Amino acid sequence: MADFKVTQLDPQTDFDNLKYWDVVIIGAGPGGLAASLTTAHRGLTTLVIEAKSEPGGQPQFLYADKKIVDIPGFPDGITGHELSERTFRQATDALVQFRFEEELVEIHDTQEAEKEELLKKVVTSKGEYLCRKVILACGLLHYPRKLAVLDALESRKVYYKVPRVNDYHGEHVLIVGGGDSALDAAVMALQRNAKVDVIIREESPVGKADTVGRIQELGGTIRTAAEVTEAKSQDGQIVSTLSDGTVLASEVAIVQIGFLSAKETFERLAIRLNEDGSIASTPTLKRLAEASLPLAMCMATSNL
Ligand SMILES: Cc1cc2nc3c(=O)[nH]c(=O)nc-3n(C[C@H](O)[C@H](O)[C@H](O)COP(=O)(O)OP(=O)(O)OC[C@H]3O[C@@H](n4cnc5c(N)ncnc54)[C@H](O)[C@@H]3O)c2cc1C
Repeated sequence: MADFKVTQLDPQTDFDNLKYWDVVIIGAGPGGLAASLTTAHRGLTTLVIEAKSEPGGQPQFLYADKKIVDIPGFPDGITGHELSERTFRQATDALVQFRFEEELVEIHDTQEAEKEELLKKVVTSKGEYLCRKVILACGLLHYPRKLAVLDALESRKVYYKVPRVNDYHGEHVLIVGGGDSALDAAVMALQRNAKVDVIIREESPVGKADTVGRIQELGGTIRTAAEVTEAKSQDGQIVSTLSDGTVLASEVAIVQIGFLSAKETFERLAIRLNEDGSIASTPTLKRLAEASLPLAMCMATSNL
């Protein structure tokens, strides 16, 4: 029982046979989950459609073990996994419904009216849903960019996200990439007792300067203007040759060189995209999102 005023959904609701949903949300990342709490707590039937097999979005898929320190209410930080797990549990407790491994394809206007508004039809890879409102919280549908030379090894030790390992026990970890994801991965591995080499193609890292400083403080090596040109598996290790001739043997390789995103869906929906495939937002939305994502989501749903 909540101590503040929320309109709870009726647990007896037959969600499998609703004529229409009040709200369909695309994406079960932090944005979609926050929006779903807002709508379900206003007594609105809410369906979240997620392309991946589990909720959480980027914190779950890209940095499950990273301690996030800028989420309000968690002064000691919270890992990406725990944030995802807690928010998902909160949403299911609020009777938000989920469909996983289902991808948005199209959204159509219809001539059917409910509560004085025309319904929309959301078409996914598995079905169709009528609803009053759609919230797009797609963020990035992230398919990591592969590095052909390491990918060809078909090794389980080549990762395209930060692996969920507690301790590397002095193992050598090769990290490829110079953006924030790669640098964050380097800090995490160093904090888990790894020896780390970061291989950056550019002349200098593009990620945050303070993370670069942290890597150096923790004893990591940053090699700029270098690429992995050859790689082989040998005695349980990955032996990589760099463009400057250096040969490095590592137990693990983590490649973080960006993402491919599902541009086509958005192009079909005529949604303006940024270069990286993420949804382009107006300056106002951007300011709101930067100030507080849940607040932006409340605003997006406030006219329901
Ligand atoms: C390495 C790294 C570290 C970060 N660290 C921090 C940090 O410390 N603090 C912080 O505040 N932010 C951090 N961020 C940024 C933060 O992760 C994002 O701002 C946040 O995840 C955005 O949430 P979202 O819900 O909008 O999108 P996402 O997290 O991208 O979630 C979108 C969801 O929608 C799904 N989806 C996409 N397209 C479709 C479709 N067509 N059909 C169905 N489902 C779809 C995706 O599969 C995904 O689950 C970090 C990001 C990265 C990459």
